[in-house]
Parts: sequence; C-alpha cells; structure tokens
Amino acid sequence: MAIREILTVPDPRLKEVSKPVEGGVTDELRTLMDDMLETMYDAPGIGLAAIQVGEPLRVIVMDLAGPDEEPQPRYFVNPEILPLTEDKAPYEEGCLSVPDVFDEVDRPTRCRVKYLDYDGNERDEVAEGMFAVCIQHEMDHLEGILFIDHLSRLKRQRAVDKVKKATRLLRSRAKSKASAA
Ligand code: ZN
Repeated sequence: MAIREILTVPDPRLKEVSKPVEGGVTDELRTLMDDMLETMYDAPGIGLAAIQVGEPLRVIVMDLAGPDEEPQPRYFVNPEILPLTEDKAPYEEGCLSVPDVFDEVDRPTRCRVKYLDYDGNERDEVAEGMFAVCIQHEMDHLEGILFIDHLSRLKRQRAVDKVKKATRLLRSRAKSKASAA
C-alpha cells in the first residue's frame, strides 16, 4: 500500500467527471482502493473518491467507524445513487480537497446506493444518517462537484482563497527547508 498525494482546490482535475470502471474489480483496482484507504486514514478523513488522488474512476472508499471502534473500511465501485426522500437536512461537511473549511450542506436524509464491493459482489443498500451524507458527498466528487459548490459564490471563493494561501505557505516552508539542508 502507498500513500498518495491528495489534490486540493483549485486543481482542475477535481472538476473532471469520473469514468465507470470497466471489466469488474481486478487486483489492479484493489491496489488503488488499498492506496486510497491508506491515504484517507493518514489524512485523516472518513471518505475519499479516486479523483482526489488523480484517478478519474468511479471508485470511493469510506470508513465511518468512531475513534474507539474497530476500522470498518467500505469500498464502492461504480456506485449509483437514488434519493429516497424529499426531506433534506443540513450537515456540516468538510473535504480533504478543501482542507480546514467546514460548512453546512442540505442533502436528502435517505438514499439507496447500488455498487460493486471490494470482491466485485453487487450490493444494494439504504443509506441514512452519516452514511447518507458521506456517500452523497463522495458521489458528487465523481461528477466533478465539491461540497463548496453547494455554497454561495462568496463562501466558495473564500474557501478556495483560504486553501490556496495555506498551500502557498506550505510550499514556501518546504522550499526554505530544502535550501537550508
Ligand atoms: Zn470531499
């Protein structure tokens, strides 16, 4: 397994629409999913879409276990989602591609999700609560949509500016470290 670099805004690849996985769940795909999971745990985060590590494929990993629980990794290949309710509820979301920005997004509270799992088996589940929020957030990534795209233009611009500034600072620190070495 390997930790991959997570893309952050305004990287244009985050706007790409991801392609379906062809040919089922292969060992090569499982290696990608293993890397994604390790990258997500390292960040740390609770969900990650393949495009966030630069792979434009319809693949998501997730782990919603609490800090005192055993890990519960979940893998979603070619997921399809169907809202089951007109009711929407706000939830404060964050994203590894928009670090240190949190804001409320309204989403349907229940949805149905069909996908292939790590072993390539077809699964069909009803998602509620945190699972519903997270799977809808990750599904958006597959369409090139970020949670800040659900916010006002002003809030979105502020979020992108904040991440750009933080990234610049990190890079200049890394550079001065390298020149001091
Ligand atoms: Zn995200």
